[in-house]
This record gives sequence, structure tokens and C-alpha cells, in this order.
Amino acid sequence: MNTLLLYSRENPVTSPADSSSPPPFRFLLAPAAQISIMQTSQYSNDRRGTKLPKTAHSKDISGKLIFLGTGTSHGVPIIGCKCPTCTSHNPKNRRMRCSAVLGLPEGNLLIDTAPELRLQLLSQDIGLVHAVLYTHAHADHLFGLDDLRLFSRYLGRDVPIYCEKHVEEQIRMSFGYAFNPITRNYPAGGVPRLEFQEVTEEPLEILGERITPIRIEHGQDPAFGYRIGDLAYCTDVKRFPAESEALLQGLDTLILDCLRPEPHATHLGLEEAVETAQRLGARRTFFTHMGHQLEHEETNRRLPPNIRLAYDGLCIPLVPS
Ligand SMILES: [Zn+2]
Ligand SMILES: [Zn+2]
Ligand SMILES: [Zn+2]
Repeated sequence: MNTLLLYSRENPVTSPADSSSPPPFRFLLAPAAQISIMQTSQYSNDRRGTKLPKTAHSKDISGKLIFLGTGTSHGVPIIGCKCPTCTSHNPKNRRMRCSAVLGLPEGNLLIDTAPELRLQLLSQDIGLVHAVLYTHAHADHLFGLDDLRLFSRYLGRDVPIYCEKHVEEQIRMSFGYAFNPITRNYPAGGVPRLEFQEVTEEPLEILGERITPIRIEHGQDPAFGYRIGDLAYCTDVKRFPAESEALLQGLDTLILDCLRPEPHATHLGLEEAVETAQRLGARRTFFTHMGHQLEHEETNRRLPPNIRLAYDGLCIPLVPS
């Protein structure tokens, strides 16, 4: 259970002999839900005056994919690091955690909810997400989920969440307050309102587009990449099973994990990523999920011309099959 530290004068730890003096503060561990109830009553008057927009203003991204984040789990710059990439003034070396948004026929599909989700959407002037598709349940792909709260308000329904069963279980555990009847029924405030749709290895339709899940190996935990038309988005990959490689033939655009110059246990290193991209033979490949060892310009100079590093804000067309 999530807990928060509180100060309290109740149940003082002093002995009866000390009772004439004010009891000292002590720590209590209280469930997060209780804390929120207290905050609700404290701020309920303030919130009466709060006006949230009823409809969202959002840039039209139809037919496009925008990289919202292209960094590894630490992001770039890394806190406390003064290496040339982390201190670079080139905005292409500033990488938020991995996420992308796609303008599909019936709305905007977000892939993963990175911890910087709010900043990512604001920076691209995207005010509305119609559905979310998860690749896997690692923290760097999940922990911006609370920022989905506004979208159920704008959509007038729970936000459709497409993910595997184990990702749903992780979400229900990590964001327990969103599923707790007490917190869901607060008179003020709000929790994310989500409607789960299970993703299996079968192709599915989301927002008017056919999407094919691609099983990828990423350490212990199952993960998916996705093929949309002749574009595939495959972040967090160590290798593809043979049957997945078969689903990645004939691509125009491949988006592929590339963590750092050296190999890594659960991600593709630079050499492996180039080999994989060349073997799959997409017309062009963009690398994502990059760490600070990969300086943007210097790395691009070493790559074949049809392989480039992506960067936050890069916008490319979705390619119909
Ligand atoms: Zn990741
Ligand atoms: Zn660095
Ligand atoms: Zn991961």
C-alpha cells in the first residue's frame, strides 16, 4: 500500500508523567487514500472556483508519428552528469523518456505514458489523447499515467488502455488509487479513469487503424513492438524471435531500440542495432531509447545514411501498407 509520512499529536509517545507539556510530534504511516481525503476536505472550497476546460485544443497530427521522448530510462541529460552530451546545447541531445503519439483516422494514439508525459504533450501542442497503447510495464514507459486524468473529461468516457494482461495488473498495482471506490468517488479532485482492452499477439484495430503486435525479447519481461502499415515501433528490444522478424519484412520505416555503443543485457547496443536494422531491411530506420553515450551529431556521422538517431519532437509520416 502506498503510504505517506504524517506528523501527528495523537497517540503521543511520551509517558503519563510528561502529559502536562504538549505532546511531541511523531511520525505516523498513513494510507495514501486517507491523506487524499484530508486534502479534499481542506481544499474543497478552493476547488469550487477551479475551472478546467470542457473541450481540448489540440494540434492536428493526422497521418503523422511524433517522437515525444527518445531517451533511455534515466533520460538525457542524466542528473549529475557533466559529460559532453549531457552539457550539450544541441536540443537533439535532450531526451525525455520513450514515448510517441500517432495521428490515426479516429484520433490520437499515445504509445506508453513516460514520466514526462505532461511536458511532452505540452511541448508538441497535443491537447487530446484518445487511447493509449503500452509496449510493456517498465517504469520509464508507465509512470506518467496520472496525466491521463484530463482526457476522460475531454472524451466524456474512460480512456481506452490497450495492453497485455500483465501490464494491466502492474497498472492496477502501481496506481491503486485509480481503482479504489473511495478515491474514485471524491467530491473533488480526480483519478485517471481507464478502460482496459487486452492486447494479445493477434492484430487489432485501434482508432480506425490495424495494428500488429510484434513480440520482442527484452530481458525477463514480455514486451511488444507494433507494426502500423509499413511503419514499426520497436523500443526496448534485445532481440526478435524469428516469427517476429517475419512480421517486420517490407517496412518503409523501422523505429528501433539503440541504448549505447556497448552491448547491454536487455537492449540493443549500437553495433547490434545497426546489424538488426540492416537485416530487417527497412527503407530507413530511426533509433530511439538512447543513453548519453550517443551524442546526436557524432553518432549520426558514423551511421549508414538510411539509419538516423531520432530526437524528441521529430515528426514523420505514417506510411500506409
Ligand atoms: Zn525503456
Ligand atoms: Zn552524461
Ligand atoms: Zn523496458
